[in-house]
Amino acid sequence: MEVDKIIQDLMHKHAGEPEYLQAVKEVLTSIKDVYNQHPEFEKAKLIERLVEPERVIMFRVPWVDDRGEVHVNTGYRVQFNSAIGPYKGGLRFHASVNLSIMKFLGFEQTFKNALTTLPMGGAKGGSDFSIRGRSDAEVMRFCQAFMQELYRHIGPNEDVPAGDIGVGAREIGYLFGTYKKLTHQWEGVLTGKGLEWGGSRIRPEATGYGALYFVNQMLQTRDIDIKGKTVAISGFGNVAWGAAKKATELGAKVITISGPDGYIYDPAGLDDEKIEYMLELRASGNDICQPYEEEFSGSQFFEGRKPWEQKADIYLTCATQNELNGEDADMILAHKPLCVAEVSNMGCTAEAVDKLIAAKQLFAPGKAVNAGGVATSGLEMTQNSIRLSWSEKEVDDKLHYIMHSIHEQCVKYGKQPDGYIDYVKGANVAGFMKVANAMMAQGIV
Ligand code: GLU
Repeated sequence: MEVDKIIQDLMHKHAGEPEYLQAVKEVLTSIKDVYNQHPEFEKAKLIERLVEPERVIMFRVPWVDDRGEVHVNTGYRVQFNSAIGPYKGGLRFHASVNLSIMKFLGFEQTFKNALTTLPMGGAKGGSDFSIRGRSDAEVMRFCQAFMQELYRHIGPNEDVPAGDIGVGAREIGYLFGTYKKLTHQWEGVLTGKGLEWGGSRIRPEATGYGALYFVNQMLQTRDIDIKGKTVAISGFGNVAWGAAKKATELGAKVITISGPDGYIYDPAGLDDEKIEYMLELRASGNDICQPYEEEFSGSQFFEGRKPWEQKADIYLTCATQNELNGEDADMILAHKPLCVAEVSNMGCTAEAVDKLIAAKQLFAPGKAVNAGGVATSGLEMTQNSIRLSWSEKEVDDKLHYIMHSIHEQCVKYGKQPDGYIDYVKGANVAGFMKVANAMMAQGIV
C-alpha cells in the first residue's frame, strides 16, 4: 500500500491519538522514498506491522495516600518493537500520560534505540500519576502498586524499563526493590539504578551530555565553535540539568531554564552553583522554577511564557513534547540562531519542524539528539550482564563514540544535494532501515 494511504488509514483508525499520529506521520513521510525503492517491504506489509505496537499492557494501579484515601491510576507498558533487542524505554509518571502519548514515545524509542548501535527494541510505559506534592511514602506505595502488575511483563532479556519525566533514581529504587521482592531475582531489569546497586556512571547526566556532544558536531559541520555561545534551555529536570552542565563545561553560556509556571532569564549565565540548584528545585516536588529568581539576583522570572522569546545562539527543548510550536519557530528564526535541537522527545510540533527545515536552519530531532540517555542505559545493561562496573571515562568515551556514530548516520541519510543536512530525514531513514532489515530477516511475526 502507498505510504500516504497508510497514513490516511491510521488517521481514521486512531483519530483520538494525536501525538501517536504526529510521530508516525513524521517518520513515514521521511522514509517514503526508501520504502518505494524496496517492493519487498510492501509485500511483507512492513509499515503496517511497524506502526502497530507488538503489545499494549494497561492495568489498574490502586494505592492509598497518607490520609488513608484510596486512589486509582492507570498503568501502561507499550512494547512497541523487539526486532533488534529486548524492549527498552522509560517510564513516565505525569498527569498528562495517556495511550496516545505512550504509543508515540514507544514508536520514537524504536528508531532512537536503533540509532544507538546497541541491541535494544523500543518500548515506553508509565502512569497518569503525578509525583507533584506527594510525600516520599506515597511515591513508594505508588511504585510498589505499579510494579505489582508490571513485574510479570518485564525481565533483563524481555523488557527493561528506565526513567523519564517523573521517574528518577528514587522511583527506580522503589520499583527495583518491589521487582526483586516479587521475583526473588537480583537482575538488570531496570536502568537508571543507583551506583551502589548496579547503576552506571554518567547515566543521570547522559541525556544532556550526549545532546551537547551531538550539538557540538552539528556546529562543527558549519565550522562553529560552541565556546562563548548563548544557550536557551527549557525545563529544569534531569535532561535540562545534564545539558546545562555540559554546555557550561564546554564554555557556552546557558541563559534560561523553564517550568510549567514560566521561565527564568539569567543574563549572567548558569554556573556550577546554579546548576546544582536545579536539582534542589526538582527535589522540592513543586514543579515550578520561579524560586530561582529569589535565590539568584540578576535573574528574572517571566510568568506563563516560554524561553524561546529570548535571543540566543542555540535553542534546546529539554522539557516535553510539542513545547515549541510554529509561532515559537518564527520567533526563534527571527533571532537568527546557529542551532536548534530537540532534547525532549518530539519537542517541536510538526509545523515548527517544517518551518525550521524550510529555513535551512541547523536543526536536529530528539530521537538523534537525546539518544545518549538510552544508549547509556544500554551500557548499564551490558555492565549488569558481565557483572562489572566501568569507570566514568570508559562510559563517557563510549557515549562520545555512540553520539558520533548517530551523527554520521544522520549525515549519511540526510545530506541534501545543496549540502543542507536534513537531520530529521537522516535519523528517520537510518533508524527505519535497521529495524526494517531486522524485521524482514525474522519473517512475518
Ligand atoms: N526516557 C529516556 C528516553 O526517552 C530513557 C529511556 C531508557 O533509558 O531506557 O530515551
